Amino acid sequence: MTDQLSVFFDPKIFEHNTGEGFFDSIPSEYLPVVELAPENADRTRNMLGVLKDGPIKSSLTWHQAPPADREATALFHEDGYLDSLDAIGPTEIVRYSNTTVFGPGSMGAINAAAGQTIGAADHVWSGEVKLAYALVRPPGHHAQPTKADGYCFINNIGVAIEHLRQKGLKKAAVIDWDVHHGNGTQEGFYDDPDVLTISLHMPHGAWGESHHQTGAADEVGVGAGVGSNINIPLPYGSGDQAYARAFDEIIAPAIEAHAPEIIFVAAGQDANQFDPNGRQLLTMAGFHQLGLKARGLADKVSDGRLVLVQEGGYAMSYAAYCLHATLEGVLQIDPSLSDPIAYVPEDLRGLTQALEEIKAERASAIAQKSGA
Ligand SMILES: [Zn+2]
Repeated sequence: MTDQLSVFFDPKIFEHNTGEGFFDSIPSEYLPVVELAPENADRTRNMLGVLKDGPIKSSLTWHQAPPADREATALFHEDGYLDSLDAIGPTEIVRYSNTTVFGPGSMGAINAAAGQTIGAADHVWSGEVKLAYALVRPPGHHAQPTKADGYCFINNIGVAIEHLRQKGLKKAAVIDWDVHHGNGTQEGFYDDPDVLTISLHMPHGAWGESHHQTGAADEVGVGAGVGSNINIPLPYGSGDQAYARAFDEIIAPAIEAHAPEIIFVAAGQDANQFDPNGRQLLTMAGFHQLGLKARGLADKVSDGRLVLVQEGGYAMSYAAYCLHATLEGVLQIDPSLSDPIAYVPEDLRGLTQALEEIKAERASAIAQKSGA
């Protein structure tokens, strides 16, 4: 029998309107044509379309969970921050930054996104299925316990992990292959030895008050959590092979050692080579590999329990195809959609050196912090 993957989706996610402008900034007075903000509903409409009608449609079953309530989101986020979201008026538009916009319809979408993620996690934790994916927006991995950041308001995976802990979950792991640093998830579990957080990203560094974390390899956790955060800032332009090697050489051994009961993937596709928001060079083949590897790891260490959650991915067409390729990997199905546009880079200069430097920097930070 072919595996089944449960998809959690609520159309309310389309009601979060981030507006338009100069990419994710305010419009230019010099340009007559403005564009949709990159984190828009259309990108997820394409993802929905390729899953509903694409080659893997017969392997998917569709579900809708209730929206998350305040009790659920408060498991990860502090009350003062949640109060500030609740205080936004129904017609008000609040810019947490140029790029992080909250408007009418946002709260419903935010709660729907967290709710679908909780639903997917519950579905897998209850033993009904092994594999689930939450098609959600806004994304969550930059949202920290006390603040919004980078298009994110509620940390969907963080909330879902805390929810499962109430049902007896002891150890979890998060693999974040969105092209940006999963700083919100890192922050929420930074001192927590039971939740291993791993982020693969381009080396974009900190970006101000809302994102003071650097994403460097020396951010390894604090206190009892030292060692349980892993940052893998791969060089710009790294591509399919770099991601595969980082998975095999750093991610897989760390997760095997941690032995989580469930693995979450913060599954952005903005590491794709046509993404306006990323500078990595992954192709559909690269995402298929990542899906396969995550599945293999889950089968090996977490009794197959694997929950993927949508994060970024802003190339309007290609991100949807990369999602399809990812889930084919998870289902252990050979790629069935040919890649219509990819370039396959051959120049992997510097990769081995970069991986060695990341490992060395992390080891030295752990030695230093453990001894302190
Ligand atoms: Zn991203």
